[in-house]
Amino acid sequence: MEKNMICIVCPRGCKIKAEINAEGDFSISGNSCKKGESFAKAELTMPTRSLTTTVKTIFPEMPFLPVRTAGEVPKDDLVKITAFLRQFTLKNKVSCGTVIIENICGSGCDIIATCDVES
Ligand code: SF4
Repeated sequence: MEKNMICIVCPRGCKIKAEINAEGDFSISGNSCKKGESFAKAELTMPTRSLTTTVKTIFPEMPFLPVRTAGEVPKDDLVKITAFLRQFTLKNKVSCGTVIIENICGSGCDIIATCDVES
C-alpha cells in the first residue's frame, strides 16, 4: 500500500510519500524529521486524531461548552464520536479539564471540558 500525505505534526507540513509492503516493511520519504516518519507509519497502519468540538448544555449563560478528546482516537471512530456528542447535553456545571464522558464510544479516550461553566 502506498500513500501520499501531508504531515500534520507541525506547521511545516512536509509532503510525505509512504509505503508498506506485504512483509510489513516501510519506505518513507519527504519527511524532515523522525516525527514525520512515525506519523506516516501510523497513517498507514492505524491513523488517529484528536477532536475538538462543542456540546450543548442546559445553561442559558453558556449554551455550548468547548470540549476535546483527552488524547487521540482512531480516525475511523470520529464520525460516531461526533454523532454521539451532537446528541449529548451537559447537565452539570464543570471546570476546565473535567472529564464529562469517559471512554467515549469505547475508544478508550475521555472527553474533557476545555472551559469552565461558571456557577
Ligand atoms: S516531518 Fe517533521 S518537520 Fe515535517 S511536518 Fe512532520 S513534524 Fe514537521
